Amino acid sequence: MARPVLACLDLEGVLVPEIWINVAKKTGISELRLTTRDIADYDLLMKRRLGILDQHRLTLPDIQAVIATMEPLEGASEFLAWLRERCQVIILSDTFYEFAQPLMQRLAYPSIFCNRLEVDQKGRIVNYHLRQPDQKRQSVIALKGLQFLVVAAGDSYNDTSMLAEADSGIFFRPPDAISKEFPQFPVTQTYVELKEAFRKAGGLRP
Ligand SMILES: [Mg+2]
Repeated sequence: MARPVLACLDLEGVLVPEIWINVAKKTGISELRLTTRDIADYDLLMKRRLGILDQHRLTLPDIQAVIATMEPLEGASEFLAWLRERCQVIILSDTFYEFAQPLMQRLAYPSIFCNRLEVDQKGRIVNYHLRQPDQKRQSVIALKGLQFLVVAAGDSYNDTSMLAEADSGIFFRPPDAISKEFPQFPVTQTYVELKEAFRKAGGLRP
């Protein structure tokens, strides 16, 4: 008997736009556009971001209000609904529950595994907590241990260990440099192509 399929999806870049970049745009604070390409050390990058929020006296509710104005990528909700009719789906994201929350409503509350922010009584974000290092890959290892056939899709470097660990890994709109560096993962550019890739990898019905 074939193992049941479990789909693991990255969030930002696959279903919704990049959260920090949108927060930078909508608050006009261009320094918040910093990514791991500018500061490779994730801890330094996050501390810098939290410092910038503090300088501008932005609290968690302020940021959540900005995030609440974001929309999922065009076609994302329909794609996710299609996938959830065909297999179990879990979103594996490096973002934080407190940031993802306003977007989850728009996606009909799928399951999501991510991280948490520490917030004081006044709403100031004082720290962040990763559940565990490399949680996307660790989640795939655990789900395979539960005897699921894991098919994963993501768009960037922080997805490559998840894609490699999955039974099948798929890129969705990756930057050229990244897809060239990891030629083993098929590249999809539209949700029609992504559906087809999931259908093939998991034997899902059309
Ligand atoms: Mg992403």
